[in-house]
Amino acid sequence: MYNDELYKKSWDGPLLRCVSQEDILKILFEVDQGWCGSHISGWSLVVKITCVGYFWPTLVQDSMNFVKKCDVHYSRKYYLPR
Ligand SMILES: [Zn+2]
Repeated sequence: MYNDELYKKSWDGPLLRCVSQEDILKILFEVDQGWCGSHISGWSLVVKITCVGYFWPTLVQDSMNFVKKCDVHYSRKYYLPR
């Protein structure tokens, strides 16, 4: 706990801010589809979210589910050349 915010120590040292339920969707949306959104894979989304300093207990599952529901991910899967 620091400045009334809950933090989790990451495996490589920096503290990750534990976010509230209402912020989870905003963070997933911004990292995946925001101004720098790159529609990356679920695991890459997890890594990117922890790199920018956020954490929540269901981060991995929420990221995987978010990617599955993303229209851009869906269209890329079927229209990109193989
Ligand atoms: Zn996406």
